[in-house]
Amino acid sequence: MGRINVLSFEVANLIAAGEVVDRPASAIKEMMENSIDAGAHRITVEVNNGGSTFMRVSDDGCGMEPTDLPLAIRRHATSKIETAADLDGICTLGFRGEALAAISSVSHLRIISKSRELSMGAMLEVDCGEVIELVEQGASDGTTVIVEDLFANVPARRKFLKRDVTETAAICANVERVALSHPEISFKLITDGQQRLETYGDGKLLSAVYSVFGKDFASKLISVDGEYEGIGVSGFVGRSDNVKGNRNYQSFYINGRYVKSRTASAALEQAFSSYLPAERFPVCVLFISMSPARVDVNVHPAKLEVKFSNEKLVFESIYYAVKQALESNVSRPQMNVSLPRPSVTNAFAPVERGQSLKARQISMDVPTANRSEAVSAPRSEPRSSADEKFLHYRVDGNSAAPAQRMSAKDYLDMYVNDLKKAGNSGPYSDSIDTPAPQPPATPAEKAVESTGTPAGTGEGGLPVRVSEHVAQGLAALADKDAGEKGAHEADSTMQAQDVQAQDVGVGGATWRLVGEVFNSYIIVESGEKMLLIDKHAAHERIIFEELKAGMYASGVQSQLLLLPVEVMLMSDEVSAIEEYRGELEAVGFEFSCTGNFISVSAIPSGISQDAVADMLAVIADRIKNGTGNVGVTRNIIFEKALYQASCKAAIKAGREYSEEDNRWIVSRLMELPDITVCPHGRPVAMEMSKRNMDRQFERT
Ligand code: ADP
Ligand code: MG
Repeated sequence: MGRINVLSFEVANLIAAGEVVDRPASAIKEMMENSIDAGAHRITVEVNNGGSTFMRVSDDGCGMEPTDLPLAIRRHATSKIETAADLDGICTLGFRGEALAAISSVSHLRIISKSRELSMGAMLEVDCGEVIELVEQGASDGTTVIVEDLFANVPARRKFLKRDVTETAAICANVERVALSHPEISFKLITDGQQRLETYGDGKLLSAVYSVFGKDFASKLISVDGEYEGIGVSGFVGRSDNVKGNRNYQSFYINGRYVKSRTASAALEQAFSSYLPAERFPVCVLFISMSPARVDVNVHPAKLEVKFSNEKLVFESIYYAVKQALESNVSRPQMNVSLPRPSVTNAFAPVERGQSLKARQISMDVPTANRSEAVSAPRSEPRSSADEKFLHYRVDGNSAAPAQRMSAKDYLDMYVNDLKKAGNSGPYSDSIDTPAPQPPATPAEKAVESTGTPAGTGEGGLPVRVSEHVAQGLAALADKDAGEKGAHEADSTMQAQDVQAQDVGVGGATWRLVGEVFNSYIIVESGEKMLLIDKHAAHERIIFEELKAGMYASGVQSQLLLLPVEVMLMSDEVSAIEEYRGELEAVGFEFSCTGNFISVSAIPSGISQDAVADMLAVIADRIKNGTGNVGVTRNIIFEKALYQASCKAAIKAGREYSEEDNRWIVSRLMELPDITVCPHGRPVAMEMSKRNMDRQFERT
């Protein structure tokens, strides 16, 4: 007698059930998708005890006829496809005909449904795969599926369910993801009798984002809308002050279906790479649309993973769409005054011994991903009419809205572990926060500064670099600022009240350099605004922009060195430099390699030769580590290398440089108004309006 048994229908169903429905959250997802496929406008999800005892999904969709009810719970019974050819053009969320079969075989299930065409509905009751009854029943149009005692007949699986709160969190996350992908449907989620979420269903993605992630999150977004080789990418990405410590807030949808995709995450992060602080992850809600034939969703029973016929193209479409959105987004962080006001009596009270008189402090609204304050926030706050207005006001995601103190909802984190940070760049080493001792200015340096003569081969990096910048800055400003020049040359120490020049920036806006504090921040008055500029960050960004421009356009300016600079690198680094010779020459380097030595005979103009060794070392390192990632093109790798290198070439915070250097930086910054963050994503400048200042000082 042979030993092979054909498994019974029930056993086969049980095995299949394990794949489709592994926890209550996946059952909820399947049921919601059925409601969406049925054309519902309203979907209500209710669960108790993490879904293990009770789940109900009701919709106002097309409903089912009584005779279809027993078929709905049969395996491979679906109304969505018929032939194998249909698999190439799937437009519905479901198509495998497995979900209801799976759920009904491991629970006590009731489906109450009424088709719009019929006057009477019906109810089908199934217990662990066994049909109990099918009866006529009055019902409103649409379908309600009730699932009780999930995994009642599979104790092993029931034992593996996590704590109720964890399962509930997983359900919430699934409902939110689905709600985001269908702003035209109003979703309501009730867990253990409490409403957790309700979306408007007004068709606006931003409304859905607002309901799901909260006001603060929704106010810090940039809209994305691009098309590349037939692939559409639209939705929102977070501004650089709306970033997270993990990838949990990256939601990608391929043709409306939520997916986890390394390619998509990698493309998003690459696009953000010169906008983001180290170890921070961009957030997004992005919809990628492409012909269904170009993507295979049939690789995973839960349909969470997809296969693209052209991975690189998908990468590029996301990368370029996001990059373009970032480049066209211009908004500077605002400075906030944060301490409570002292009362009038206190202000005039004598200061007691040991008590210091504190001025009100100015705090910067800088990017922060500190989420601890947000964790216990209520999920959905009632909407006021002011909130509604805010929603519409923020629709383009571009204008700088005042920072909101509302917190985003964070319990997505409760069950999703951080994805491995693979593909993220290593720890960022930067000199901005380590003020170096100020080099004493030698008479020779002063001489160089005061003549403004570029002296590319001079000794000592600082005066050389400084004078080049002075020369360039002065050339740019020559006709506008001729009278001021002499005065500043006489004394390079910043004296706020001495500087009264009005410079002209882009669009004719005038600006005045007021001074510098802590050898780090330049103060500028421009129109009705005061700007505080981080000089290192600004210089870094300016160098990066110039190198990048050189990279994409030929005819770059480079400066010949009288004596070549010898740089020693590891042999694999030398090969990396050789491999990217074309790109390096495009930005202005000229060099020859012998063994482990690179002899550099020309460098990009505006760069100090002292920075060359460091720059080449980081470029080589980046190139070495950048290869091997899907879809990452040479250009992307090289661009990343350039922004690391820009940091090495930029002037340092905490060191004193001449006022002309500061002036040059400001003038370049004003010519490039879209510079808001340094290549590592930290803010370059903050602003405070006169109106705001007047208000803080109670003048208005
Ligand atoms: P699939 O969605 O892959 O077709 P399911 O097992 O999820 O498979 O559902 C089987 C069938 O039951 C669907 O094809 C659909 O015809 C019907 N159905 C399920 N849920 C609903 C619903 N909420 N409204 C209308 N029809 C439904
Ligand atoms: Mg389905």
